[in-house]
Amino acid sequence: MIDSHSHTFYSKHAVGTVDELVRASIAAGVKILTITDHAPFTVDRDNRLLESELDRYFADIERARQAYQGQIRILRGLEFDHMPGAQAYNRGLLDRYDLDFAIGSIHYVELPGEPLAKVWELPRLAGKAFLDRYFAHLHELLECGLFDAVGHADTLLRAVPEDEVQRRMEPLLPLFARHGVAYELNASGLRKSSLAPGSSTEVQGVWNYPSRGILPQLIASGAAFTIGSDAHDPADAGAGIRPLLDELRPLGLERVCYFEGRRRIDLPLDFFNPAPATGTRTVL
Ligand SMILES: [Zn+2]
Ligand SMILES: [Zn+2]
Repeated sequence: MIDSHSHTFYSKHAVGTVDELVRASIAAGVKILTITDHAPFTVDRDNRLLESELDRYFADIERARQAYQGQIRILRGLEFDHMPGAQAYNRGLLDRYDLDFAIGSIHYVELPGEPLAKVWELPRLAGKAFLDRYFAHLHELLECGLFDAVGHADTLLRAVPEDEVQRRMEPLLPLFARHGVAYELNASGLRKSSLAPGSSTEVQGVWNYPSRGILPQLIASGAAFTIGSDAHDPADAGAGIRPLLDELRPLGLERVCYFEGRRRIDLPLDFFNPAPATGTRTVL
């Protein structure tokens, strides 16, 4: 199994050390793990790495990489925030630190005259002003040339009807392949609550993202896909990845990728489901 999106206590709203996450991932059957804590940023500084912690973060990853060599491959990642005007800051970090994988995500949207909107504030997501800006920011993110993948682009499905997300996403779909940015299949959508249609009640256990409606068009346009649990607790290491692949394979998903040294490596889905050992076969 591959898990290309995971967090530790360095993100502050997540728990578990690098070592604890790695051991839980090994136990869950993950063979290639990318640790992607929230990168330093100018907004919401209490929910992410500080610049002063980055050396320690990468040292912890390096120590785990050596300690668990042969059991799991561990890669250095960060989940960046994209907002208008943030490119120079993010580019500065990317210039200073060698990463295997850089995710670009939108967690915050500025709305005139309102407090900063966050993508986990479900009742705010379906507003026209929010959606207009979210998709404008996503367009920018895809064209900025800084990131290997977009994190949970379809997280709005927790509160916005699929046809609305699909209609707004459609013009952007060809940009993933054109700019070499992977579309993340984020398995946390299998664990997170969503708003019941037409109500303000949050319900659990409903598939909200990744979008199954958008997937065939993305595949047809040549987009690449990363996959990750987005675990914020070692208890969720690798969570949802197998069920997600089982669900998406019949929709035409044939391969996923991960990034090493910022270079894309494609793997067929068979990598995740090796043929069962026969036990009786004789090798001549
Ligand atoms: Zn995120
Ligand atoms: Zn994340």
